Amino acid sequence: MSYGAARTFAATFKYLGIDAEPVPAGDEKTLELASRHTSGEECLPARVTLGNFLKITEEPGFDPSKAAFFMPTSEGPCRLGQYAPFMRFAFKDMGYDDLMILSPSSKDGYGDFGGLLESFVKLGWMGIVGSDALRKMLYKYRPYENEPGTVDEVYRKSLEDFSEVLEDRDIPLKKKLAALTFSLERARTGFRVVPVDWEKERLLIGVIGEIFCRMSTFSNQDLIRKLEGLGGQAWLSDISEWIWYTNEEEGDKLSLYNRKFSLDMITLMMKKYVQHKYEKKLLAPLEEEFAGLEEPHNVNEILKRSLYYLPSRGAKGEMTLSAGKAVYLYDKGVDGIIDISPFTCMNGVVAEAVYPEISRDHDDIPIRIFYFDGSTTNLENDLEIFMELARNYNRRKKKLRLKNQTV
Ligand code: SF4
Repeated sequence: MSYGAARTFAATFKYLGIDAEPVPAGDEKTLELASRHTSGEECLPARVTLGNFLKITEEPGFDPSKAAFFMPTSEGPCRLGQYAPFMRFAFKDMGYDDLMILSPSSKDGYGDFGGLLESFVKLGWMGIVGSDALRKMLYKYRPYENEPGTVDEVYRKSLEDFSEVLEDRDIPLKKKLAALTFSLERARTGFRVVPVDWEKERLLIGVIGEIFCRMSTFSNQDLIRKLEGLGGQAWLSDISEWIWYTNEEEGDKLSLYNRKFSLDMITLMMKKYVQHKYEKKLLAPLEEEFAGLEEPHNVNEILKRSLYYLPSRGAKGEMTLSAGKAVYLYDKGVDGIIDISPFTCMNGVVAEAVYPEISRDHDDIPIRIFYFDGSTTNLENDLEIFMELARNYNRRKKKLRLKNQTV
């Protein structure tokens, strides 16, 4: 998870009366601690998450009986479903038998949350939408700033403001949406007053791939900042895209099992309706800002584009999203596409197999996958070569981009 999303989830927990903090950022120590419990064959996100949790256990005064780690899970072939059981083993090895790993699952109707479920789901969703939007503002403005660091600072303050509103228990749930929308309006003002030069030449690069690795700056060696240093502007796929996809999957499953007209389907439709409503309201102040960088109105706009390459009915998870999003980004006029994936992740491996065909079918747009395994590589060299290809493509491309700079 990105720092922004983790911060807003922590705020959600705080609103519900549970003290919470985002895990610390990854560093050398993260991998060193994780390596005491791993064989090296685990996914990089598993090692980074475990290592960061372990860093907390090393903090002075850490009391396992008063701590819990939040580690969402999922079903299916992806190894994410194994993270929580794997971590329980690791903590058991350390003698922390009772250390709680809060791992809500759709299997038991998210029973871990008890009566807090409705508030958690609503606030958690607002947090995801808000943190996605602020990150998008960061990546829109930062490549054009006149003074390095100013946009990072506005982002940090805006995220803090948004999270403080989210966790403020004096603002009741029914007034949260309006208060958070107002916070995003303040953020917009903050970004707009940063001195920038929109005339700087920048190549727009779509960034897709495995959700954790593409969001975790430690795991991907801060690829986006390096890309910006080489004249790029990143358009990173949101976290909310994954939530829309899981909704779609749930609907497909219900239809498949003849439950198209069931209570579960009605619940799902209502959930989607509420999520859309919240998203629309929250993002209204930023609509003009994101002109030319619009996310699809519906995840099916992505899935229909992956149909020929990795159809969502057969190829599940991020691989189908990555293939479809690559085509979507091409349609929006980006100059190149980067996929960030952990080494050995099947999603990346499968998507990589179809990228050459996607590129051929779309004017040979450069698409390059970057794998990460926790070791440092000379990323800059490879990025420089990629940017040269993107520059060449930019000169001859047929799909033009709608310039989005405003104010
Ligand atoms: S998507 Fe890949 S890296 Fe991420 S948890 Fe699943 S298998 Fe591991």
